[in-house]
Amino acid sequence: MSQETGTNRAIRRENRNRIFRYICRNGRTSNPAIASALKMSLPTVLQNTRELQGLGVLYDAGELDSTGGRKAKTVNVVADYRLALGIDITRNHIVMVLTDMVGANLDRERFHIPFRDEDAYYLSLQDLLREFVVRNHIAEDRILGVGVSVPGIVNYRTNRIDRSHVLGLEDFPLERIAGYIPYRTWFINDANAGAFAEGFHAQEGDHFFYLSLNNTVGGGFYDKKHLLDGDHFRCGEVGHMFLVPGGEPCYCGQRGCSDTYCSALRLAEVENGSLELFFENLDKGLDRDTQRWKEYVHSLAVLIHNIHMILDYDIVIGGYVGSAMGDHIGDIRREVRKLDLFDQEASYIRPCVFKISESAFGAALYEMDHFIAQI
Ligand SMILES: [Zn+2]
Repeated sequence: MSQETGTNRAIRRENRNRIFRYICRNGRTSNPAIASALKMSLPTVLQNTRELQGLGVLYDAGELDSTGGRKAKTVNVVADYRLALGIDITRNHIVMVLTDMVGANLDRERFHIPFRDEDAYYLSLQDLLREFVVRNHIAEDRILGVGVSVPGIVNYRTNRIDRSHVLGLEDFPLERIAGYIPYRTWFINDANAGAFAEGFHAQEGDHFFYLSLNNTVGGGFYDKKHLLDGDHFRCGEVGHMFLVPGGEPCYCGQRGCSDTYCSALRLAEVENGSLELFFENLDKGLDRDTQRWKEYVHSLAVLIHNIHMILDYDIVIGGYVGSAMGDHIGDIRREVRKLDLFDQEASYIRPCVFKISESAFGAALYEMDHFIAQI
């Protein structure tokens, strides 16, 4: 095989994949619309959509309503060509989700089951997964596998969780969980999974730092369909960056970590653990909520500013806080503006788009994306 042939083949594959991903993002569309959006020639697009139909991943979706002239034929993705399951393991809950080739929320359930590293826990997980598959009538041959999100450092060299403070695990073999899951299983850090869910639905070529503000604080660096790992799979662990030297104690054993000041718990604790109620009362102007928000936004602004000074990328505010804060993104931008030397608008701060069980969906979509990359 000549080098040129290999290069041409690679370009053809890339074109086909871009076309397929475009249809995944946009749904039912026509060949001319794809050609125009991706700046490709119509014959190239036609050839590729024909190939994709031949593979069984696209279907003929009828003609567009004509506004005069010839009616354009449309295609769409066979969304359930493959399905992926996602599981998010947290300290007190298991979240289970089902998604497809386009990242749809097909089913989702949250179970209150505190984590214990015991057979009984894993057997419960196994039973719940079986019931979940049965109730969704999923054909086994369509299941790509199960993505598991964990609040800890997932080491892909050793296939172990190096450490999870939240679950109380250290040097923990992934096989201990995977052994109970009767499908192909993969693992991902929870904040990275959140970043991936956000990125899966983003436009082509998007990149950002995803700041996960859940009951713990973490982050993931998403760059054009890839997550940055770092040398020790700890890239984005911003929860334990020092925000206040010698400040309040953190669960990690240090003092003054950003986790202590920026986790969702910091807000929810004002309202007996309810973040929804916190934002409701903030909107009503209640004093204690307003005062806490002010302090919180200041801490968060310092954290965001520090991250942005290193990366110079957009920062997506995700997790429970990013999902629940509504229009309050403006408060955060205003506070960051006071610190920022360069960007007076702080327009690089944006709220997350993906707002429900992002870690479970992100875990499922992580392998779905690898599968799509092969198309
Ligand atoms: Zn800490």
